[in-house]
Amino acid sequence: MHSQKVQKIDLNNDYPCPCRRRGRLVPITLTEAFGCNRCQQIFVVQENGYVIEQLSTTYPYKRAWRWTGHQWNIAHSSLASGYFPLTLAIIFGLLFLLLLTTLNAPFSSSVTFRVIAALVLSMMLVLMLWLACRR
Ligand SMILES: [Zn+2]
Repeated sequence: MHSQKVQKIDLNNDYPCPCRRRGRLVPITLTEAFGCNRCQQIFVVQENGYVIEQLSTTYPYKRAWRWTGHQWNIAHSSLASGYFPLTLAIIFGLLFLLLLTTLNAPFSSSVTFRVIAALVLSMMLVLMLWLACRR
């Protein structure tokens, strides 16, 4: 595997958007940020100009990229992304406990049934959340 040299991002330069819609990054005047002409996302230049970070409130973690000269490489250095699986695990645990205590099976009072139902429901909810975040 080639070690692609990470290049400093020049705000006067023309870059493609990391989204897969073939957008172009257009510098936003008087800011250290780019806007995409296709996906309408805003990317802020971080880490002394070596990383662009997606400005987003819908993601629980920030997505960032490094420029290698011809393409964007996803930067995994963001601390927040490392906490994401942990957050999911905590949400899963809380959901499971919540469902276990509130779930009332009208046709079965079996504890095993409640445990399984709570487990399946919380797994589905966490999976949905995970899919929504990876979009
Ligand atoms: Zn875009």
